[in-house]
Amino acid sequence: MKLSIKINREWFKMNIYIKQWSDLILNCSFDNTYKMAWSKALVESTVNFNDPIDDIVIFDFNDIAKLCLKYYWNQTIYFDLIQSPNIKKPPEIISSTKELITLFFNNKHSVQPIRFEKIDFSAIGLAREYEVTVKNIVRTLKQDVSWRFKNLNRQTYEIYGLNLSESKVIFNKKDVITLKEHSDLLFTVINYRWTQMLEGFNYSPRISRKVRAIDENNIKRSSLKKFQEHLDLMFEDGKRKCFYCGKAIADNETSVDHVIPWSYMFSDDLWNLVYCHKGENSEKSNRLPSQEDITRLEERNNQLLERMQNNTKDYDQLQIAVEKDYVKKFWISFKG
Ligand SMILES: [Zn+2]
Repeated sequence: MKLSIKINREWFKMNIYIKQWSDLILNCSFDNTYKMAWSKALVESTVNFNDPIDDIVIFDFNDIAKLCLKYYWNQTIYFDLIQSPNIKKPPEIISSTKELITLFFNNKHSVQPIRFEKIDFSAIGLAREYEVTVKNIVRTLKQDVSWRFKNLNRQTYEIYGLNLSESKVIFNKKDVITLKEHSDLLFTVINYRWTQMLEGFNYSPRISRKVRAIDENNIKRSSLKKFQEHLDLMFEDGKRKCFYCGKAIADNETSVDHVIPWSYMFSDDLWNLVYCHKGENSEKSNRLPSQEDITRLEERNNQLLERMQNNTKDYDQLQIAVEKDYVKKFWISFKG
């Protein structure tokens, strides 16, 4: 990554306007990731821009806020990424995004994550709540982000104009065209910096893969059904029991759960999967398991390995996981 940024920097010399943007993105101070969401939303706005006759191009704060909400929604609903070093006081935009996600889950009676782009908030009766969230974001962008982003080392880069009372960001058309032409490059720089910030205060792994996956619409959460034939080996009488509370589970209550949350592992592995009651896995959602759960999972894996046919790929993978004690190693590394 370092190398590519260096090359990009050389290349930026060709265009002073883009150089200013990259300097602001790569060197800005931060208390949270707002500046990244803001700059990304502006660049994305230029991508959607079609050449009008006027020399001035105006973007509305409302539209920019919707793009910011999209980024934070997708990063939060899939990975619950922390967006500020101050864990006790999450940034306002994140709190209000989380409130909207909670309303969405309640409304759907499900905690299945869905991409922001696929949701029609009016159709599910959350139009008003959605507008309130967007308004909150507009307020924060106006008060804290839009003007601050232009400042670096006591200097102001006049890369755009602001009319805060009318909620407008004002660009010269030629600058918008330049941004549009360099949008791929700027997205890469923004994602790089965003990842760098997140790595400072998130203990979950594979941050850069997550940030990228969200951009590429590339988050695969596949069905866990195929693991059931193995998990069922633990219950010879056919009565599945919950890994967490130990009680029997009715078929319509059965859920396959990642003991170390998916948002940490970012993959489905038999050694990390158990049966539990449906409600229980949504309750614990993104929390790391207790030491006791980890010990029980290690024991379960030993027993499961003994019961499996030893001529399958799944067996080989479980065997490696047991031999190398992935359960404890991953758990310890995520606990930080
Ligand atoms: Zn249970």
